[in-house]
Amino acid sequence: MSTSYIGRFAPSPTGPLHMGSLLAALASFLDARSQQGKWLIRIEDLDPPREQAGATDSILSSLEAHGLLHDDEICFQSQRHERYLEVLEQLLELDAIFPCQCSRQELAANRGIHNGRCHVGEVKLQSPGWAWRAAIRAINLQFEDGLKGIQEQALAEEVGDFVLLRKDGLFAYQLAVVVDDIDFNVSHIVRGEDLLSSTARQIYLYELLNCTAAKYFHLPLILNTQGQKLSKQNHAPAIQSSQASENIYHCLQLLGQNPKAELKGAPCKELIQWGIDNWNLENIPGKLPEPAS
Ligand code: GLU
Repeated sequence: MSTSYIGRFAPSPTGPLHMGSLLAALASFLDARSQQGKWLIRIEDLDPPREQAGATDSILSSLEAHGLLHDDEICFQSQRHERYLEVLEQLLELDAIFPCQCSRQELAANRGIHNGRCHVGEVKLQSPGWAWRAAIRAINLQFEDGLKGIQEQALAEEVGDFVLLRKDGLFAYQLAVVVDDIDFNVSHIVRGEDLLSSTARQIYLYELLNCTAAKYFHLPLILNTQGQKLSKQNHAPAIQSSQASENIYHCLQLLGQNPKAELKGAPCKELIQWGIDNWNLENIPGKLPEPAS
């Protein structure tokens, strides 16, 4: 096994897997395995109020039923709070974060975007009622996405000083995702295009922490008949393990891999092996067809 490629799938346990999350899991798995890489699973259970009881078990058993077998121990973000705090302390030391109590209403005047330190005076990390934000310099952050090409985001204008520790005391996704990808030596991140707009923020954090960013690949999204991304919020149907072979075949087709017709109905193991042997990133379409309503 190559140690130079480490990929991961990082679902939030807010509901069962739907076809969109299976597509991301399969693409990241095939990309890793086709390069003799490792494939890790991380459960992003950072936000208990948004989680659904039983979702973690349901996600893990669906992945297994679809033949997506992971390496190493599963990482649970709920068990890594101390580490996130340690990194915030490091960022504080670098003077890269600041405390904030601005309300949504106050920020609404500036399209919800926060620009510039808003508080002078000592506040301790984790003081109740205080958020902590990354202080953003006015830079155009450029990176190359492995599927979408060169991307650029004017961080200060388009995103502003983003939150790393929330007012309610929860660690923000943007912080945890980068700390974990760094600590687990993740080298390649293959995920849905809905996260493309978060990538510049994440690369900014890598830079602050003096680490080399992973390579990013953003996949086209599966849309529902209303043209919305499949998500738990708009009640995307859960995938059924009893249909695992059909689901994998369908995802291989959506990913432009052209599975042979004879493979229809083959066991997942066989489909996945075919997927590894024939994996070609260049065949992934830029956009997926909208389903007929
Ligand atoms: N947990 C995030 C989600 O379910 C994915 C994070 C990532 O892949 O970076 O949307």
